[in-house]
Amino acid sequence: METHDRELHRQAIVIDGHSDILSALADGRMRLKDRIVVESPEAWQGAAYVTMPAGTTPYNPSPYSVWFECMGQYDIPRFREGGVTAEVLAIFISEPHLHRPLERALEMVESFHREIEANPETLLFATTAADIRRAKEENKTALLLSFEGGEPLGRSVHLLDVFYRLGLRMVSLTHSRRNFLADGTQLEINTGGLTHLGRDLIGRMNELGVIIDLAHLSHTGVWEILDLSTAPVILSHTTVAGTRGYQTGLLDVDPQRGISKLKALAAKGGVACAIFVAQPDINAIVNDIEAIIEHVGDDYVGIGSDFVSLAHAPTGLEDISKLPAVTDEMARRGFSDATIFKVLGGNLLRVFEQVLG
Ligand SMILES: [Zn+2]
Repeated sequence: METHDRELHRQAIVIDGHSDILSALADGRMRLKDRIVVESPEAWQGAAYVTMPAGTTPYNPSPYSVWFECMGQYDIPRFREGGVTAEVLAIFISEPHLHRPLERALEMVESFHREIEANPETLLFATTAADIRRAKEENKTALLLSFEGGEPLGRSVHLLDVFYRLGLRMVSLTHSRRNFLADGTQLEINTGGLTHLGRDLIGRMNELGVIIDLAHLSHTGVWEILDLSTAPVILSHTTVAGTRGYQTGLLDVDPQRGISKLKALAAKGGVACAIFVAQPDINAIVNDIEAIIEHVGDDYVGIGSDFVSLAHAPTGLEDISKLPAVTDEMARRGFSDATIFKVLGGNLLRVFEQVLG
């Protein structure tokens, strides 16, 4: 059984819908080439040096996670051990850079391309589904560029075209905060939907072929996009049931609302990617995958790791190298090979094919 699972994982096209490792790369704190080893949360004594960021984040990060972010959870050796065919790297504008979002985004774009160019044997710049298939054939990891929050665009929807030329292929309008495009999922501020600019952006994303990501968007906004978009949309990383401290959960806050959202997403041909971060263990992650399958079948579920820190890593899936654990656990529960392939990346690849070409 063990050998069968390993072989299954090796054959699969594995696509991870979300990683924030570009922040540490843009800050010059690491490169992707080498396996990064950071101090363990238990051994670390540097809390006194960390200034906790003020602002709108509802996630209460620990000093350890503010300091190390997701270093030690994504790098090339770990991509290879995890059998990762494609990884989506997000441009997220953190609080200290909110006064210069465009500059920061461009720095992150540069880091993205610099890493790919520095590692031609193992990485590949991807803008299409065909690029992801090529990465599989050439035993490389394809990297795709996304926005987590439209802050870099400011009020200039036309800048989307510029970022498209730079490789951008997936965008979520907000990361919780309200911005010029839409309302996010900040705990007590969750009333509005899309602005006119946000609506314009959705139209342009449909025209250009950019994947719309519903992550961190207000409920009203989600329904508006499900109505507006002419293409399938995805949730690149989402909790499903009972994840600690997160408010993007589909089925935990209001299960009925979550189920109808999930059904609408599926009816559009989209994919909801189960998140890893802040889950207690591998079991909870596969429970989420199973819950999505239970409600809409196995064609609309994927994975979106979103590791934020070793201090918040699930037991048994501490970093991206441990991805085969998902295959093992799904096989152990009796899921078919076909279903496992779909969850690991087949479903996301279908959407990428449809939207990106
Ligand atoms: Zn996120």
